[in-house]
Amino acid sequence: MRKSPGQGQSSFRPQKGLGQNFLRQKGVLNQMVVVAEINSQDLVLEIGPGLGSLTQALAQKARRVVAIEKDGRLIPILSETLQGLGNVEIILGDALKLNWSPSMSRGQRYKLVANLPYYITQPIIRRFLEAENPPELMVLLLQKEVAQRICARPGEMSLLAASVQFYAEAKIVDYVSKRVFWPKPKVDGAIIKIIARCPKPKADGEIFFKIVRAGFSQPRKQLLSNLSRKLDLPRGTVEAWLAENRISARQRPADLSLSDWLALAKTLPQPLFS
Ligand code: SAM
Repeated sequence: MRKSPGQGQSSFRPQKGLGQNFLRQKGVLNQMVVVAEINSQDLVLEIGPGLGSLTQALAQKARRVVAIEKDGRLIPILSETLQGLGNVEIILGDALKLNWSPSMSRGQRYKLVANLPYYITQPIIRRFLEAENPPELMVLLLQKEVAQRICARPGEMSLLAASVQFYAEAKIVDYVSKRVFWPKPKVDGAIIKIIARCPKPKADGEIFFKIVRAGFSQPRKQLLSNLSRKLDLPRGTVEAWLAENRISARQRPADLSLSDWLALAKTLPQPLFS
């Protein structure tokens, strides 16, 4: 493992505010490519190519790689690192704002693979899960704690877990030591694989999210009080609604599974939107 950048990159000063912790271990790069099952038919979108190490590994297997980088200082370095790889397109821009569809025709299948900057992890996942044309799968390297929260099971569920799991199946593939990044971040990372549900979930997303947000409004409190207060429903009505779905009124929101939340969304006692 190299601990600092290679030739041509040595004068580069990483910017903490952009989440610049570069991956320096070939084994982890290759693992991400394998987990994403990249093959010669694939179009891959990468967010934050940085110094280009993951981009390089992806481009060696994929048909085409489109990578969006926010930091203009990295563009000349990327041109150097990716020299000779004709299937890579680098776009300078903010992945949270950019409409990248001109580079990818509508409805085209693609995979999203990234070592994500920590400060945009959640908005990026949300943006792509909710996209009109979501990626067929995402393989992401992110902070271990965030990965664990996303992939949580009943007993440890959160608003984040329920929101991601509404759209996709998410699992932790492996943990990654903070020592393999340059500069070294404060916490370890994890690789997660997110596969969008296909077809898209049948439940009404607006109702589902309204109920889940109400349920987690005070995560330590019991469901009964959260739901009745936030949805403005009498306690008796909420008790009957929960009982109908075999959920105890004393349970806390973290105890419910995705299917419990889906069942609640389907059996809502009165229209919330009229
Ligand atoms: N992929 C490289 C690697 O694995 O070594 C770099 C990963 S580094 C954690 C995150 C990268 O995302 C940095 O290059 C950073 O400049 C870039 N970045 C940060 N915010 C971004 C944004 N909003 N849009 C696109 N790229 C961004």
